[in-house]
Amino acid sequence: MRVLSITSEAIPLIKTGGLADVAGALPKALNEHDVDMRVLLPAYNTLRPLMDKANLLWKTKSCLGYEVRAFALVKDGIQFLLLDCPALYDREGGIYNDGEGADYVDNHMRFAVLSMAAAMIVEEGLSDGWQADILHAHDWQAGLAPTYLKLRGKCKVPSVLTIHNIAFQGWVSADALQQLDLPAEEFHAGSLEYWGQLSTLKAGLVFADAITTVSPTYAGEIKTPEFGMGLEGVLNNRSRDLTGILNGVDDVWSPAKSDDFLPYDVKSLGNKAKNRTALLKEFSLPKMDGPLAIVVSRLTDQKGIDLLIDALPSYFARRGGLCLLGSGAPDLEIALHQLRAKFPDQFGLRIGYDEALSKRMFAGADAVLVPSRFEPCGLTQLYGLRFGTLPVVANTGGLADTVINANTAALQKKTATGIVMTRIDTAALMEALNSLIDIYAQKRVWKTMQKNAMIQVVDWSESARVYYKIYSDILNTD
Ligand code: ADP
Repeated sequence: MRVLSITSEAIPLIKTGGLADVAGALPKALNEHDVDMRVLLPAYNTLRPLMDKANLLWKTKSCLGYEVRAFALVKDGIQFLLLDCPALYDREGGIYNDGEGADYVDNHMRFAVLSMAAAMIVEEGLSDGWQADILHAHDWQAGLAPTYLKLRGKCKVPSVLTIHNIAFQGWVSADALQQLDLPAEEFHAGSLEYWGQLSTLKAGLVFADAITTVSPTYAGEIKTPEFGMGLEGVLNNRSRDLTGILNGVDDVWSPAKSDDFLPYDVKSLGNKAKNRTALLKEFSLPKMDGPLAIVVSRLTDQKGIDLLIDALPSYFARRGGLCLLGSGAPDLEIALHQLRAKFPDQFGLRIGYDEALSKRMFAGADAVLVPSRFEPCGLTQLYGLRFGTLPVVANTGGLADTVINANTAALQKKTATGIVMTRIDTAALMEALNSLIDIYAQKRVWKTMQKNAMIQVVDWSESARVYYKIYSDILNTD
């Protein structure tokens, strides 16, 4: 089965968030099922040097008016197709914005071209004879790929759309319809229209044959007004075609192998203690007896960082410690700097993005905090489970699906793997942090939870099986 996956980011080439982890992990996970997946993404300026050694496999003089080419290359065993269109992708800033935080004004065009190229590649095949059986689009950036494929009607290849975060919907002024080569008669509430504008995510939800999102709980949540962000109606209409599939964790995230920290497993947690000492040193913090928690996150409202800032003083008062790595909203960054100045011996702060450091943090810390207001799947709590770095999480989305709360019953049955907040507010986070301090002090209970967490299966095997089943089902309908 040959699948063309369309994404705006994928590890190991380019990453700003969890989408990249998933888009890069899926081809490997689906290999087990004999799925031959190629991953199409824009040739951003940082990726252009890779094109020197890549093979030109497809080109067109006009993709929504742009001349574009697709170059194939293999990286870490993954077959990538880089879409070359310098006018749209060869830019100095970030991949979505100018580096100062302002989104590119032509983002709709940048990703419409990606989506149209995907549809054309599916229709025409590549010059090495590769022809997709399925198109798999990710998020709003690729939402128009299933749309173009259906509306052009040149082939019957079915499509899947995966929602990684419904908060980003690809809104575009209705004036852009013509430029995007979309028919005016599809501009109505039952199709492309979202309250007077066009939404590329909604377009994908209407035209894809199957829809997935990244956890079963989130699949239920986004059908409600509270979480659906205006798309709950279309999702309810397509409820039968919507499946929640948990993300897995790639093997690169393992405590058992690393050159960067002392490797450990369930039996050698002593090495984790040494990593903890090293981590404290790296953040210039003194030895501490209370739990050492971490946060590795975008700093946004979604991630509940404001709740954290309010809850932390009481946690620090009880001798808890925290190392935080993240970047994002300037006001949150300032508030974190202020908090750090008040608690210099308990709070280590790094503003920035640093994957190697994040791994050392998971290897050395006792707990990872994820107090998100909503969380489609969440990856850091999964890394936490694997590393025996117990997750303290909000009761939402994939967090609710993956962490077993240390309530009395779960502690008695020895099944608990973390702490789940009862509500998503500052008081509930303070309660959860109190539980963290109390449970951490009970060394035997803590160790049992660590072991439960580390043996929990968080790899891709089951999820890959479900994706494969969805591909098979849509291939066999008709
Ligand atoms: P989202 O995609 O909403 O940001 P996820 O939890 O799904 O959240 O994925 C975030 C990914 O980005 C994880 O792999 C996490 O480790 C990583 N990450 C986030 N912020 C940083 C950072 N500042 N430095 C290194 N890695 C980060």
